[in-house]
Amino acid sequence: MLTRSTDKIIVANVPVSPDHYIGGQRISSEKTFTVSSPVDESILGEVAAGGAEEVDAAVNAALKAHPKWAALGPKGRAVYLRRFADIIESRVEELAAVETMSNGSLLESGRKRVMKRAAYNIRFFAEWAENLKGKTWESNGTQYSVQYQPSGVAALITPWNAPLMLTTWKVGPALAAGNTVVVKPPEWAPFTCSLLADCAEEAGLPAGVLNIVQGIGEEAGAALTEHPGISRISFTGSVETGRIIGKVAADRIVPASMELGGKSPLVVFADSDFEAAVRTAIGQYDNAGQVCLAGTRILVEQSIADRFLEAMTEAAGRIVLGDPRKEETDVGPLITREHMNKVEGFVERAKEQGARLVYGGNVSEQLGGLYFEPTLFTDVPEHAEILKEEVFGPVLTFQTFSIEEEAIQMANNTEYGLAATIFTGNEDRAKRVGSAITAGTVWINTFFARDLSAPFGGSKKSGIGREGGDWSFDFFCDIVTLAHKT
Ligand code: NAD
Repeated sequence: MLTRSTDKIIVANVPVSPDHYIGGQRISSEKTFTVSSPVDESILGEVAAGGAEEVDAAVNAALKAHPKWAALGPKGRAVYLRRFADIIESRVEELAAVETMSNGSLLESGRKRVMKRAAYNIRFFAEWAENLKGKTWESNGTQYSVQYQPSGVAALITPWNAPLMLTTWKVGPALAAGNTVVVKPPEWAPFTCSLLADCAEEAGLPAGVLNIVQGIGEEAGAALTEHPGISRISFTGSVETGRIIGKVAADRIVPASMELGGKSPLVVFADSDFEAAVRTAIGQYDNAGQVCLAGTRILVEQSIADRFLEAMTEAAGRIVLGDPRKEETDVGPLITREHMNKVEGFVERAKEQGARLVYGGNVSEQLGGLYFEPTLFTDVPEHAEILKEEVFGPVLTFQTFSIEEEAIQMANNTEYGLAATIFTGNEDRAKRVGSAITAGTVWINTFFARDLSAPFGGSKKSGIGREGGDWSFDFFCDIVTLAHKT
């Protein structure tokens, strides 16, 4: 039996529903899970832990809402989605405050960039859908036209490191494509997705178009991917979970898009803008290194290596580690104690396996809690785990190379392929090395530039498929060929 709820809990002075959002109603669950804040490890509240029953209700609500939503067409849907984006934008301050308390990301960055980007994700894809043109041509007396049709209900599953941004990156195109959605937010940071449902309601999105089922991945998430009513699974998270979801999707022949982890290289040639390259290397500690795209393997040309290491060490000494709500803070806490234990394990094993610690390596003595120092290893043996596995913390490695071919070989010496960054002052080299590295996105003399019309995704173990621009619609839509005898 599903029970309606009007409960709210207060996170960062903002009232937030701890419950699901199903068919336009707040629904509670008997079971709950406890969410705490990485900022001070205080308990933020008990959140509804959904399972098969709640997922079934949400998918059924989405199925019921689908025909009318699909029939609105891209222009009709865009009216709602623009309003939705406007309301998200009007609540940037609240969303940023709640996100910071939930996952420890910097408040300033949330207020100035990330939450606005969440609104933009919705607006951008609404407009893209309005302008999406199928193709038409004639061949052998038959006219062919390719159409993008809504595919049904999309299951959207997201991680905790940027919950609202990553959720809207999926909600935007899925809804603009004419699908209805069921979102399973991350259990370690579930609150901004709950506020997203409030924004949808305020924007007047019809009941059932956007549904949220809170809960633990292995229960709510698994029930969602296994539900026979869903037509798409878009997942962002770890390789381990990607594997589990991939098997379920294969069994049911449901298209699944996978945006997974990374172990990206940052390659610095001697002819590069030295200061910009050092700044970018130090920037890999942003969000306490809990960034899938982070260039965690710093590869520097031998001739500038000593100077670069010195400059990095000096710049790292200036990083302000601390409360993410304070303006002066550069790097905040890790998400949970469980995650911190994992990061500490990587650091300990790196030392045991012979890597040399240049700086960091510990929880801050002064701050305690989940505040882990920016950390750098050098002289890392080739077989060491720290070169191979994603740490998802503020831990970088430093290696050197002598010639371009060696840099390419080292950059590609990974099972991952999410992103790569190259710094060089030589345009020919930029093109050569850029196309020789296997990764979904290769940045040259820049980092983190992400235009929403560009394809985004991972090569190798970092994922399956691409989203962004047309690619999002290739995934979320059923693509139909009409072959008409003329
Ligand atoms: P995770 O895989 O543990 O969890 C991600 C989501 O999947 C959560 O909502 C979780 O509840 C859910 N989940 C867990 N088990 C499930 C199951 N059996 N069935 C269905 N859903 C399930 O990942 P995480 O720890 O939340 O996030 C960190 C990982 O995400 C890192 O590896 C990071 O690189 C990756 N990531 C990738 C991108 C990208 O764009 N490629 C972006 C951000 C994060």
